[in-house]
Amino acid sequence: MDQDEFFTPSGSAGAEGFTGTANMEQFNRIHNRKPDSRGQFEAPFAFLQEQIIFPNMVVSVELEMGSGALENVLAALEEKSTIIGVYFDPENDSNYIPVGIEAAVGSITPVSGEHVKVLLQGRRRVTIEELSFANDKASVVAKPARESARKTEETLAKMRLIKKQIIDYAELRGYSAVNLSRALDNIDHPGFLSDFVGALLDIPFEDRLDLFFELNPAKRISLLLPLLFSELHMLRLEAEIQSRVQSEMDNMQREAYLREKMNQIQKELGDTKSTDPDVRQLEELFEKTELPPEPEAAVKKELERLKATPGLSPESGMIQSYLRWILELPWSQQTVDNLDIRHAEKVLDENHYGLKKAKDRILEYLAVRSLKPKRDRQPILCFVGAPGTGKTSLGKSIASALERKFVRVSLGGVHDEAEIRGHRRTYIGAMPGRILQTMRKAEAINPVFMLDEIDKLNADFQGDPASALLEVLDPEQNYAFSDHYLEVPYDLSKVLFITTANTVASIPPALLDRMELIEFPGYIEEEKIAIARQFLIPEQLLQSGLDEDNVTLPDETLSVIIRSYTYEAGVRNLEREIGSILRKVARLKSEGKELPVAIAPESLSTYLGSEEFFQQSAEANDEVGLATAIAWTENGGEIMPVEVAVFSGKGNLQMTGQIGEIMQESAQAALSYLKSRAEAFEIPEDFFEDVDIHIHVPEGSIPKDGPSAGITLATALTSAVLGVPVRHEVAMTGEITLRGRVLPIGGVREKVLAAYRAGIKTVLLPQKNLKDLDEVPAGLREQLKIVAVEHMDEVLDSALAGQPKFIKPPKASKNKRKKEATGVDETSEGEKPN
Ligand code: ADP
Repeated sequence: MDQDEFFTPSGSAGAEGFTGTANMEQFNRIHNRKPDSRGQFEAPFAFLQEQIIFPNMVVSVELEMGSGALENVLAALEEKSTIIGVYFDPENDSNYIPVGIEAAVGSITPVSGEHVKVLLQGRRRVTIEELSFANDKASVVAKPARESARKTEETLAKMRLIKKQIIDYAELRGYSAVNLSRALDNIDHPGFLSDFVGALLDIPFEDRLDLFFELNPAKRISLLLPLLFSELHMLRLEAEIQSRVQSEMDNMQREAYLREKMNQIQKELGDTKSTDPDVRQLEELFEKTELPPEPEAAVKKELERLKATPGLSPESGMIQSYLRWILELPWSQQTVDNLDIRHAEKVLDENHYGLKKAKDRILEYLAVRSLKPKRDRQPILCFVGAPGTGKTSLGKSIASALERKFVRVSLGGVHDEAEIRGHRRTYIGAMPGRILQTMRKAEAINPVFMLDEIDKLNADFQGDPASALLEVLDPEQNYAFSDHYLEVPYDLSKVLFITTANTVASIPPALLDRMELIEFPGYIEEEKIAIARQFLIPEQLLQSGLDEDNVTLPDETLSVIIRSYTYEAGVRNLEREIGSILRKVARLKSEGKELPVAIAPESLSTYLGSEEFFQQSAEANDEVGLATAIAWTENGGEIMPVEVAVFSGKGNLQMTGQIGEIMQESAQAALSYLKSRAEAFEIPEDFFEDVDIHIHVPEGSIPKDGPSAGITLATALTSAVLGVPVRHEVAMTGEITLRGRVLPIGGVREKVLAAYRAGIKTVLLPQKNLKDLDEVPAGLREQLKIVAVEHMDEVLDSALAGQPKFIKPPKASKNKRKKEATGVDETSEGEKPN
């Protein structure tokens, strides 16, 4: 054959290719074996595996060093003659195939310590007559096979077809079709064509062996054709699948690729805008947003990082949401304050009944602002009062008077500093803290910002949210508030912060220091009725789609709702109950039923069910060992009976009714006071050693604490010990010292109102609290007798229904544990002393 190119079919493993001029030289010296007169010759042989060596084909085979096969190869090389390659029958390995290949041995190169690579050039097929292993020499007796070059028309047609198809095949496999077609042009022997193509196809060893074994070239051509067709078909199918997958992939990658390309081009042109719509949107937002230097630098840096990050990666998403946060926060947008005091006063009055102190303080604030507009420091107001006393709604009105935005956030239950200050960005799902989240909602840097329930902050191992809040509120620090997520400082100094709390007692002291307290004292019944009439009813009518012509709520009805359906210092439940009545009326209206013109007190149960609260009332009779305290609760004030019983015993003091530590100490102080007065009250010596004293504050499920029941405890105790009853229409509040001095307490307004509601006639108040009576409506003050007290003696004077003298002590018996009597148990059988 005279191909002038070296052609490498990768289809057969280890094949070096069909003989080309480049490789010929090393084989030129090797002669084919000459057959003897019988047409056969003897030659060394080697068993071959996996690789079929077709005639004219050069194949490299790997042989083991020192193996018989290698020895035979070397022997052949010595003789400058050929070796015979023999194949095992794949269906039965102990047999060999009676057709072998006579091959010339070329270069031998070591590949590792144990193997060498031998180049073999296929010369011609031989039929194997005999294998022999005599004298340790493996030799074969073989006859060169005769291959007819005769071509029928059919063979010719098949050859043409094969030549055409193999070109397609080669193209699909990515071989050079030009070289191939030139090589094919020179092949006109059907036998050689089938060998040539058979070697090229990527077909299983067995199929290749079948081709090798077939000595009739025309039959070989017929054998080859279906193999070629099926290979071609598979390749086409593969190509089609690949192109389908490719185009799907392409569509995905193309965009990313093109975008990257465009980014590069834009960079070259000095245009640094991104082509990703999301990034572009952020860039445009960045252009429109005026930012202080630090956030601006941060945004620039992150935008660069974003552009260098693959679009679909989680990292990209995180950067985008960070950028969006920075860009959507207000940095410079500011509303213009309306500092017109008359306007503000009008707004506050229009929206709120009463609340004079709070309103005055707000107006003062506005006045200072209008006179000294440059003053940037904002006071921090803290509205303290029970729920529903109008703290939030006053906050809103302040914002609307100032024409500022209003936002609020609840701090109830916040115990993690990160809730205030955000999580660092390395956290999965990190976000800014509540302060900045709320600022984003405000859309301006100077909103009225209400921090609700500041008294419900908790500190735990996650850091102290109160100290983070200090940084929020402290004008010295809040111009550069640091949020962990945002990383750049944020200016909160233009915000008007208003905090709210139900009680000052649980506000962290450091915070309390920074704030200006404004109390929301709770409303008396008349005020509630007025609020309902002016604000709640009109609003609820509006919400239920009704008007005053449809239904009215007379004052008596409101009174009953307030007393029997609500129990609160504020008006939140009152508002709810009114709402639910009006919704029921609205339903009647929509059903076309007859409407009540006015809701009478008697018909309330049809709207609201049965009464839920029973008015607390003063005791009906004067009793020994039973005194009435007035307590402050989050819902306002309430009266609180204190009971004391004295039994014969061993000097123990027992307290029940969920009494807190401070109240227990008050009880101890009260007892010490009484002991110190024993002589004056003519209490027998050793009396206290022979009795047990039991103090109980009813409604045991409700925890009670605080020092303000001190004088009541002392009164009940004195009454029980002396056997003198307490006047039932007297209630009292005040702290007691060991020497019987009375100290001032808080919550006077609520307490006085509670006493009044309960039907108390006389209220004993510490002298120092008299000033607080200003907060009590004048009309009410006139109906109560208020007695200012400085010492326990004065308390006893007003409270006891008799002289404080020992008149009815129990019999102090050490061995009798029988329940005896002073105080509560009037069925005593104990002997009366004296
Ligand atoms: P808080 O924030 O103190 O819990 P809110 O401000 O939510 O109370 O008040 C509850 C409802 O009572 C609101 O509808 C509010 O308008 C109304 N309200 C409370 N006090 C007054 C008042 N003095 N004048 C008019 N409405 C009031």
